[in-house]
Amino acid sequence: MTSTAPASITSTSSSTLDELATAAVSAAPVLSTASGEQRATWLEAVADRLDANAAELIELADEESHLGTPRLTGELARTTAQLRLFSTVVREGAYLEATIDHADASATPPHADIRRLLRPLGPVAVFAASNFPFAFSVAGGDTASALAVGCPVIVKAHPGHPKLSRLTASLVASALADAGAPAGTFALIEGFEEGLALVVHPAITAVGFTGSVRGGRALYDLAVNRPSPIPFYGELGSINPVVITASAVSERGESLAAGLASSFTMGVGQFCTKPGVVFVPADGAFDSALVAAVGTPGSGAMLTQGMADAFASGISSLAARDDVEVLAAAPASSSSGSGSTTVLRTTAAAVLADPSALLEEHFGPTTLLVSYSSPEEALAAVGAVEGTLTATLHAGSSEEVGPLVSALESIAGRVLFSGWPTGVGVTWSQQHGGPWPSTTSSLFTSVGATAVRRWLRPVAYQDAPERALPDALKESNPLGLPRRVDGVYEVPAVALV
Ligand code: NAP
Repeated sequence: MTSTAPASITSTSSSTLDELATAAVSAAPVLSTASGEQRATWLEAVADRLDANAAELIELADEESHLGTPRLTGELARTTAQLRLFSTVVREGAYLEATIDHADASATPPHADIRRLLRPLGPVAVFAASNFPFAFSVAGGDTASALAVGCPVIVKAHPGHPKLSRLTASLVASALADAGAPAGTFALIEGFEEGLALVVHPAITAVGFTGSVRGGRALYDLAVNRPSPIPFYGELGSINPVVITASAVSERGESLAAGLASSFTMGVGQFCTKPGVVFVPADGAFDSALVAAVGTPGSGAMLTQGMADAFASGISSLAARDDVEVLAAAPASSSSGSGSTTVLRTTAAAVLADPSALLEEHFGPTTLLVSYSSPEEALAAVGAVEGTLTATLHAGSSEEVGPLVSALESIAGRVLFSGWPTGVGVTWSQQHGGPWPSTTSSLFTSVGATAVRRWLRPVAYQDAPERALPDALKESNPLGLPRRVDGVYEVPAVALV
């Protein structure tokens, strides 16, 4: 583990990285054979330790991220709830997908006894995010889901909150050790080059990442170009389109405008689920309602000066275009390091002519209204949107929405009706991921119970003697797992791992 101290990033030496990786390799078989109950207890110990140190954690997080105490209090609570959800997931055991097909000589073709189970990959690298210093950082969902299924974790700290990363890491490591997890279960490293070295380290079997498209793509390329390529699960940028129909505007235009204003400015617009583009009828009624709902545009401190600079430069390039109007903007005198609320407008025709420039993500408090003159034009413009984490539809209460829903589900991992995409429930059913470029693999989620699936691979055991089988696949089902046996899903009365 790196030492505690200054508020700048320190580097982890290559010999330290090797030691941490070696320890993770040694811990892997211990974690993999630990019972679900043991691993659940470890996660709960981490959650309890973080909760017990909430005041200090939240103060440090606010000092480094400027996100404010109410938001950070809620985010830490979400983070410990995530850890406890994954405890429930491993205790219940269905995530193992235990499946048994008894030998059948009469089948076509005949087959042997085959039993299949998901097994942990091994040590996992996690790149912490900047904008969720708890929920997607050191003890966030990637770390929790990997530990839950028995993968040791080495986190690369985000340089936006170094002191918080170190404090969180020391609490996680001590809670795991006190709860009986083996040395090597968890570690933190720091430094840009060290992150690169981690991805190519032979000990690492998979990578979880939350951040920019550019950073994620660079690390993805590194992961798949290793001599032994590994899976890379990147959660990247996202434009999160919203479609508002004319019927919805006439039924509830003002409340939709208030909802959008609150959603795109929340957290100074620094959410991967921020609604970045909103398709609205061309009559201008919704545009006026949104400008009224925004009121006097304000500004707020962003996570880093670099993000504030990138946001300001992106908005001024957009605003300078002939096909973009500025409907509302905070005064130019906003302080350095802050992001100014800005509402922009263009047309569906302009988007269709230059989608890559107009539909680029701008991480900060802005949204782009795209006016369409017919349902057909709205559908065509939605078709120009690249893969995205979410897509939202606001339609009239009895309106036919089939074609729009089909268009939205073809580009997004989560389709919302009459809501706003900021705020991601951590549940068994959640999907937080979508087609490229919102993620590097649209098959998986980084939020919710099935996030564990990223760190597992299936193994089938053919004609294995009972003594050689994992407990999860033994004939008597000693762990009481839900299993599919000869095609029939069986749930024991009390399912305990
Ligand atoms: P970032 O610049 O991609 O950095 C994330 C992590 O990746 C940092 O640890 C960074 O290391 C590392 N990194 C970046 N580029 C790298 C490269 N070429 N090689 C090796 N390591 C690299 O992300 P950010 O700092 O959070 O910037 C904000 C952007 O991320 C926004 O555009 C936003 O859209 C996106 N974002 C997306 C989500 C999501 O859930 N989809 C969440 C948060 C942010 P160093 O800092 O040490 O350079």
